[in-house]
Amino acid sequence: MKQNVDIIIVGTGAAGLFCALQMPEDKQVLMITKESVERSDSFLAQGGICVLKDEEDYDSYFEDTMRAGHYENNKESVELMIRRSQEIIQDLISYGVDFEQENGELLYTREGAHSAPRILYHEDLTGKEISTKLWERVKERKNVRIEEYTTMIDLICKKNICYGIIAKDRQEKVRAILADYVIFACGGVGGLFEHSTNYSHLTGDALAISLKHNIALKDINYIQIHPTTLYSKKQGRRFLISESVRGEGAKLYNKNMERFVDELLPRDVLTEKIREQMKKDKTEFVWLSMVDMGAEVIQKRFPNIYKRCMKEGYDPTKECIPVTPAQHYFMGGVKVDLHSKTTMEHLYAIGETSCNGVHGANRLASNSLLESLVFAKVAATEILAKAEKLTLDEEIDLIKYENFDALEEEYKEMVLKEMERMKHYE
Ligand SMILES: Cc1cc2nc3c(=O)[nH]c(=O)nc-3n(C[C@H](O)[C@H](O)[C@H](O)COP(=O)(O)OP(=O)(O)OC[C@H]3O[C@@H](n4cnc5c(N)ncnc54)[C@H](O)[C@@H]3O)c2cc1C
Repeated sequence: MKQNVDIIIVGTGAAGLFCALQMPEDKQVLMITKESVERSDSFLAQGGICVLKDEEDYDSYFEDTMRAGHYENNKESVELMIRRSQEIIQDLISYGVDFEQENGELLYTREGAHSAPRILYHEDLTGKEISTKLWERVKERKNVRIEEYTTMIDLICKKNICYGIIAKDRQEKVRAILADYVIFACGGVGGLFEHSTNYSHLTGDALAISLKHNIALKDINYIQIHPTTLYSKKQGRRFLISESVRGEGAKLYNKNMERFVDELLPRDVLTEKIREQMKKDKTEFVWLSMVDMGAEVIQKRFPNIYKRCMKEGYDPTKECIPVTPAQHYFMGGVKVDLHSKTTMEHLYAIGETSCNGVHGANRLASNSLLESLVFAKVAATEILAKAEKLTLDEEIDLIKYENFDALEEEYKEMVLKEMERMKHYE
């Protein structure tokens, strides 16, 4: 079966949803997601989203992003992200996103490696607030259809032009979907790692498919480890103890209950320090104390973290919690230009799955939601300006996709191998 739409967006996280909202009503947009819409990392973001607070903060915000990225960032991407940030926040507010305010003024918090508070937030559930509101607005659009439990398993392409995707649905039925433009919004790679804060179905499929079709990737060995996730012996996704907890004053202690590090160091540096300490202490975690914040602040500012700690048997208002580093974010991805275009014609990539170089070697906290939205809008603008139509009059062989399990494993292997190869190439 062959289906035709104007635009396919693969992924229904913040990047995909925001991009879909930029499309006018006369464009038929199909969005697909591997699982349910709520199961994307965008719904998990706790800390917040950065914004250029005022012109005076520009240089400092730019420098913080560059320093965190070890100055390997693409300066033009950083500039574009910061310059468009206020517009994106206004878009979000117009879609109904509720950021914390006091007396009608937005409140800003601070996280590691930021030299000033410039992060907007909603309790400790910022990603859920943003993604839910975007999803609600998308549901109001007649031109956008979301298919859950539908997985992209390949691209349809010829002579470096993308004509659509091959998708497998919930009943394991495979079909070809043709489109004028395809947008990868497939998120990160946490599913490839044993310990990660990401959903396990995020396995870098867009990267594997890109490798298969010679679409350029960039910096795919740049993996961010989050220094503080709640330590647990249980299997499954690691629960994040947001950086804003440390931004608001939480302290780290070794096994003798002594402080051993500046808690607001960039993530990669802090991760190293924690690992060194765990090695010295022969432990699998270090302690984090929120106690000095006081019970009222903890419960009001971090209700979700408070509930989860209580569920795991720790009362953060009275005692330390055990934390340990885990895979968290992917700075690399499918290489894109400043318009979010990949090296294949009619194929774009946005959000965590893409790499425009904005994060360099290490992402500054709370820059990723912003980056996802800025470059999703940029992609939509470019696609609408080009508006080229494509036709492909040939049969597509679907038989070769019958063995999904093998294909899935093959894709994972391809990405891991390439990450390893890039590490040695460095
Ligand atoms: C615990 C946690 C906390 C975080 N906190 C913050 C924060 O405070 N601030 C911040 O800026 N960032 C934060 N981040 C990072 C941020 O959430 C992500 O970088 C961002 O949400 C990525 O959005 P996305 O739309 O690119 O991907 P996602 O939201 O992950 O969405 C990916 C989508 O792609 C779909 N998909 C993948 N492969 C396929 C396929 N083959 N076929 C079909 N669909 C597919 C998935 O099902 C999903 O719908 C956090 C991340 C985590 C995990």
